[in-house]
Amino acid sequence: MALRAEKFDKVAPFFNGQRPFGPPEAVIFAAVKKIIALLIRYVPRKHLLRLSAVGLRVVGLFYAGNQVECPVCRHTYRKFLPYGRINPRPNALCPSCLSLERHRLIWLYLRERTSFFQRPMDVLHVAPEQCFIKAFEKQHGDGYVTADLESPLAKVKMDIHHMPFADRSFDVVLCNHVLEHVDNDIQAMTEIHRVLRPGGFAILQVPFFAPVPDATVEDPTITGAREREIHFGQDDHVRKFGKDYAGRINRSGLVAQPDSFAKELQDAARYGISQEEVIYKAVRAH
Ligand SMILES: [Zn+2]
Repeated sequence: MALRAEKFDKVAPFFNGQRPFGPPEAVIFAAVKKIIALLIRYVPRKHLLRLSAVGLRVVGLFYAGNQVECPVCRHTYRKFLPYGRINPRPNALCPSCLSLERHRLIWLYLRERTSFFQRPMDVLHVAPEQCFIKAFEKQHGDGYVTADLESPLAKVKMDIHHMPFADRSFDVVLCNHVLEHVDNDIQAMTEIHRVLRPGGFAILQVPFFAPVPDATVEDPTITGAREREIHFGQDDHVRKFGKDYAGRINRSGLVAQPDSFAKELQDAARYGISQEEVIYKAVRAH
């Protein structure tokens, strides 16, 4: 017992002073779980992405099972990892490819509702999500272009308000969780419209915070991190989108086609997907 108590002292800080009971394996398992929770809570996602490749795969061993399945990387687990800095959401992050709920939904939407995976296309991926990059490169080859203002994952460095691409260059633009950060979302979407070919489409997911306001809230005089968090939902957001989001898309020249695809998904729970999330597809009509 003395030996076990000594071992426990080394991991005690991870238990908030509560002493776990059980065999040493259970103690270590509990400690690893706590470390994971702390890492996910306090390490920004961009750093997590860097240290993820090996570390989270090891973590995945502790989540071995077949209750949930990631459609992006096809791995199965007992459940997904919790994710979120302030109030971590349970069952969110894939330990293998780091997909979140929304990434798995977008993947299934592209596969089930579009021709994205049926032929090579010219695809512009703004602020590229790491979990998609390899698969999209494989699918679209040289037609696949990643771009961002600062992401190290992107090949082209650009300002979305003035994109360095010719008119009608792309069949698809993917631009998720970007428009809440940019100075002028309408101008950014107007640029997306410009570089899309007629008949092409964009996926333009943005976060919504309950209660969702009727009209999008923005105020350029709110610049402090704390104030932005209060008014816009996160310290680096410059607006909080409202129920008028589809209308804002339409102001850019694109035609919004919101799709409640997630509601019809039979296996949403298995894929760790929120059935409330609406896909904001937008097309360039002509
Ligand atoms: Zn995955």
